[in-house]
Amino acid sequence: MIQLTQPEILLMRKAGQITRDALDYAKTLIKPGISTLDLDIMIKKFIISCGGSPSFLGYEGFPASICASVNEMVVHGIPSKDVVLKEGDIISIDVGVIYKGYNGDAARTFPVGRISSEKAKLIEVTKECFFEGIRHLKVGERLGKLSHAIQVYAEKHGYSVVRELVGHGIGKKMHMSPNVPNYGKETDGPIVVENVCLAIEPMINLGKKEIAMLQDGWGIVTRDHKPSAHYENTVLVTKNGVEILTL
Ligand code: MG
Repeated sequence: MIQLTQPEILLMRKAGQITRDALDYAKTLIKPGISTLDLDIMIKKFIISCGGSPSFLGYEGFPASICASVNEMVVHGIPSKDVVLKEGDIISIDVGVIYKGYNGDAARTFPVGRISSEKAKLIEVTKECFFEGIRHLKVGERLGKLSHAIQVYAEKHGYSVVRELVGHGIGKKMHMSPNVPNYGKETDGPIVVENVCLAIEPMINLGKKEIAMLQDGWGIVTRDHKPSAHYENTVLVTKNGVEILTL
């Protein structure tokens, strides 16, 4: 775990604010008839207008500024003019922003118009998984306490937790040590130290936990084609507690 200095923490806060604002902006755009490519273009412009740059663009060859993942897509959906949102869909938007060399990373799952109560509950419980997890994130404790709490909460509601994709340390790079799984034992993982930033991101499936990758090499979908939701924030852990930088 990389400990940050106070000046670095100020830059992480600013990166986090732009990330949050980009997601708030995304929420205003989502409606039936808009394509995920349109969302990508507008959110990219917004991030740049705020003084940030979209960290996903070109990351390991990713061709866009946001990940836009509809219904059974878990994460890493490539925006496309051919993916047009319809009433009843759910869409997760994942945004990464670099500000003066520091990174913010966050995701929300949004409803498109009116959605089923089944999908609405999945979105809500996925968000609750995050908050349940950070109740167990404390300096001096094992990171596994957070991971375990998320898994228990998701499974209590009859959902399953994706195993292959996890949260991560974040700072000067978007993906840093340690891994932050959404499952595991309370005794797993490193001891949490102060002044570290983590991106915590439950990916919760309505059906089974198994996933598959699309032919494009990016999109991750559920094998059973049931919906999946994603909720992520970048947080700062200090002696005084957890500060959510992207909310
Ligand atoms: Mg992330």
